[in-house]
Amino acid sequence: MTKIDVDILVIAKMGDYVQDQLDARFRTHKLYEAADPDAMIAEVGPSIRGMAAGAHRNVDIELMDKLPNLEIVTNFGVGYDNVDAKSAGARGIIVTNTPDVLSEEVADTAIGLMINTVRELPQAEQFLRAGKWTSGNYPLTQNTLREKRLGIAGLGRIGKSIAKRAESFGLSIAYYGRSDQKNGYTFYESLKALAENVDIIISVLPGGAATNKIYNKDVFEALGPEGTFINIGRGSTVDEDALIAALTDGTVRSAGLDVFDHEPHVPEALMALPNAVLLPHVGSASVYTRNAMGQLLVDNQTNWFENGKPLTPVAETPFPAK
Ligand code: NAP
Repeated sequence: MTKIDVDILVIAKMGDYVQDQLDARFRTHKLYEAADPDAMIAEVGPSIRGMAAGAHRNVDIELMDKLPNLEIVTNFGVGYDNVDAKSAGARGIIVTNTPDVLSEEVADTAIGLMINTVRELPQAEQFLRAGKWTSGNYPLTQNTLREKRLGIAGLGRIGKSIAKRAESFGLSIAYYGRSDQKNGYTFYESLKALAENVDIIISVLPGGAATNKIYNKDVFEALGPEGTFINIGRGSTVDEDALIAALTDGTVRSAGLDVFDHEPHVPEALMALPNAVLLPHVGSASVYTRNAMGQLLVDNQTNWFENGKPLTPVAETPFPAK
């Protein structure tokens, strides 16, 4: 493997598969291992030309200011609300993400979470493990997927993979987004209208200012007491207090959540609710898919420094080749 004469700052731990390749190609500086991260940045900052970033570490103006020669931020994940991409673009810094390679895995997780929530499979398993079966059967679930209407909020790459699967379940499909894709599914131009007209919402909306706490009391009231809310997108899109209240007083029936506002911290009140199925952000979390994401991150970094062509720049930094 050809060594590239470039210094890379790796700000979050992202698996041996990625780290080994970055180590083999570049001079890497692992911020996540530094005893004193500020001291490391002060020491190597001016030499850094590339950055590998991950979900729980923010790349803000303050950090970019300390890296005056930064050219590219390759983000591990398709959602890049952890990176201030607009400011990066204004400074001529490219940001890349890892689209497509995770869509099928995340869609699988979303469908699994929907079935678990609607048919109470985790609760039924807890019932069995607690030795309660010998005293009687687990109660029939009030909810079912039969004859239900599914609303997908954010019908993008992952949303379309979810829709493809949901069609085979016989669910009718509607969606909400900023634009009517005229694709045969019913489009609603407001989240509230979608919620009023479906039984289950699966949300795949990205994070960021435009979607912050977009799921509020009004939307949960519109979804109604028979309604189920599934979130595989971003926790920041949900007013968690409003969701907890809605689940507690029966405004909505149930929720299945893979993402939370302050990960890895989950509100105690949410954890205590029997009608919530909770996952620790595992949407794309298989070795197969995480390796594919890692490969794309490495390829973005390598392509930029070898031939000036990042593979998957985000919308805010649509830079042409050098
Ligand atoms: P994508 O292809 O960009 O799709 C995003 C969709 O959301 C688009 O259809 C877009 O439709 C809609 N949208 C964007 N901004 C919106 C806004 N302000 N209001 C309403 N709709 C909006 O992205 P993707 O690859 O499907 O990924 C979607 C998100 O899933 C990521 O951003 C990430 O946060 C999340 N994710 C989670 C996991 C996990 O492990 N749980 C894994 C991967 C991704 P319009 O342009 O028509 O509005």
